[in-house]
Amino acid sequence: MDKKITRKEFLVTAGVVGSTFIFGSSIITSCKKKEETQEVQETKEQAQTETPKCDDLSGLTPEDINQRKQLQYTDNSPKPDQTCSNCALFVPPENNTPCGKCNLVKGPISPNGWCTSWVQKG
Ligand code: SF4
Repeated sequence: MDKKITRKEFLVTAGVVGSTFIFGSSIITSCKKKEETQEVQETKEQAQTETPKCDDLSGLTPEDINQRKQLQYTDNSPKPDQTCSNCALFVPPENNTPCGKCNLVKGPISPNGWCTSWVQKG
């Protein structure tokens, strides 16, 4: 069993082993990237579907708070096709804050919110 390997056989074998290693590594790397991409996508989707809590009413007067109640403002719209984000009176959030404002209702307003004064954005 004292077989000598020719230089050509050695190079061919080394090439096959090397190619297999590189191919396998690229598949593993590709799978990991795909998993990471899916995780990032899921996190983004979760963030988009979560309703921000816009209930800090500390700067409002009792009249402002009463108006929110009278107009039945809620952070989570009961009507899927009517949300603050598609209301003409909504002012979108700025500076990466979760809550926007409203030209009618005082205080923080959720893009997913709603009140009885909802008006279709033009
Ligand atoms: S009027 Fe009502 S529905 Fe429209 S943005 Fe203001 S709180 Fe939201």
